Amino acid sequence: MDNLIEVKNVTYEYTDEETVHTAVKNLSLNIKKGSFTVILGHNGSGKSTLAKMLNGLNKPTLGDILVDGINTKDEANELEVRRKVGMVFQNPDNQLVASIVEEDVAFGPENLGLEPSVIRQRVDEALKAVDMYEFRKSTPHRLSGGQKQRIAIAGIIAMQPLCLVLDEPTAMLDPKGRAEIVSTLIKLNHEKGITVILITHYMEEAEKADRVVVMNDGEIISDGAPSEIFKNVEQLKAVGLDVPQTTELLYNLQKNGFSVSTNVISIKEAACEIASALHSEEK
Ligand code: ADP
Ligand code: MG
Repeated sequence: MDNLIEVKNVTYEYTDEETVHTAVKNLSLNIKKGSFTVILGHNGSGKSTLAKMLNGLNKPTLGDILVDGINTKDEANELEVRRKVGMVFQNPDNQLVASIVEEDVAFGPENLGLEPSVIRQRVDEALKAVDMYEFRKSTPHRLSGGQKQRIAIAGIIAMQPLCLVLDEPTAMLDPKGRAEIVSTLIKLNHEKGITVILITHYMEEAEKADRVVVMNDGEIISDGAPSEIFKNVEQLKAVGLDVPQTTELLYNLQKNGFSVSTNVISIKEAACEIASALHSEEK
């Protein structure tokens, strides 16, 4: 079995007094070990509700979620599920607890009751993995948003999870900070084999993922490789998502009669696509 997470016909309902709100509707999704998945969707589509179910913070109202074969409903395995699936949230300031970077990263492993020498080793390794080792003696509040978020990620990976679920970790960052986070996640995925599930509403962050899952109104409306997903510009726009600028440009050229394909995302590929369309027009 190479699925790390199996979401099986899961429904999640929020109940306030008399009203019941169904935030996730009979959703099924398998996440392969070692994969990098981006979950896209506009506000209110159920992304955070799903994310919190992946490490057992929320329990499905209906259906089951298996993490590395363990059902998240099983109270006895709650800690194990949390340890296997680490969560990173939007606001790094809410996730940093200590006044020195390395103490912050050590917090999780300390709570696991590990030997001091093991903690030291894990903290150093985690800080190097997010390229923040040189800041180990710094004060987190002096750092940029992107750097703080990388410290928060280090704190989670120091607990050696199998999977990282990040719920809009770049929403409060500037473009530079966003790029730092995405490249850090790609590195963790490639070099450490950590399974990554990145929730975002910035489509350009999906470019390097293995797979993109688009949610709308509690359901998955498309699921595939990034280039396949972005081909469908009309559908993405219909659910309130902005397509990457390159896709938008190609889409507009296509609408205006140029024979370009919209299923490329990087600037280089887009430039090649346009060049070859112009070249064939000249013939
Ligand atoms: P997203 O993360 O995609 O923005 P959420 O999972 O936060 O979506 O929300 C999905 C739906 O559930 C929304 O309609 C939202 O209003 C509703 N919802 C979220 N949290 C609660 C809550 N604690 N109580 C009631 N409804 C909620
Ligand atoms: Mg959310």
